[in-house]
Amino acid sequence: MELIALPAFEDNYFWLLHDGQDALVVDPGDAAPVTEALRRLGLRLTRILVTHHHGDHTGGVAALRDASGASVYGPARERIPQPYTALNGGDRLQVLGVDFRVLDVPGHTSGHIAYFAEAVDGAPLLFCGDTLFSGGCGRIFEGTPAQMLASLDALAALPADTRVCCAHEYTLSNLRFARAVEPGNDALADYQAHCQALRDAGTPTLPTDIGTERAINPFLRSREAAVTQAVRAHAALATDDEVEVFAALREWKNEFR
Ligand code: ZN
Ligand code: FE
Repeated sequence: MELIALPAFEDNYFWLLHDGQDALVVDPGDAAPVTEALRRLGLRLTRILVTHHHGDHTGGVAALRDASGASVYGPARERIPQPYTALNGGDRLQVLGVDFRVLDVPGHTSGHIAYFAEAVDGAPLLFCGDTLFSGGCGRIFEGTPAQMLASLDALAALPADTRVCCAHEYTLSNLRFARAVEPGNDALADYQAHCQALRDAGTPTLPTDIGTERAINPFLRSREAAVTQAVRAHAALATDDEVEVFAALREWKNEFR
């Protein structure tokens, strides 16, 4: 199996997974980069997986389906281009011989789902849309901070070697914020240097993995004493309630420049 990040728009990635013949694509916000990659690699598109309803994740779905006959899967609780197979947390689907489990990860949108496979060529694989980014997480547009925290907790509990396929290249700006939150985290400083070198070479910083994110991502670390203390100081919070700390961390990031 081969996993490819197709860059699109300003900073999106459409993830393509293929076996040399058949391919699936995740969150194709535009058909053109997908069509071009399929032609270049001589692949047939058989499945389209969607994580949530935003246009930068769904804009190419109808054109790709019409051109290829690929079947479309997406969140039951959101509106995406019909017809598609509606999925809920706990559902399973077999794609390219891979067994994917659907996870409910509300927060960025209220019906957002993710796709997790225990073993693709020996290592777990996660397509998480706009829920988890390297060094960050999605903005909370429709859900609540409590929902987003629970969704990130569920993703953080996946195996450490899970490859995390996020839908945006936000890593460097996320890491600038992460350093402001946790200036004493050496693993974070090292990872920032590593990601800067990748971007300087024109290479995606993704996929990341769950073990790395647990070590460097403030949104998976909001219960760590250093993170909690930094948030409380920044927001002048009197409480250490974990949801309020997480919400204040997300607010801090929203206004961080
Ligand atoms: Zn989105
Ligand atoms: Fe997006």
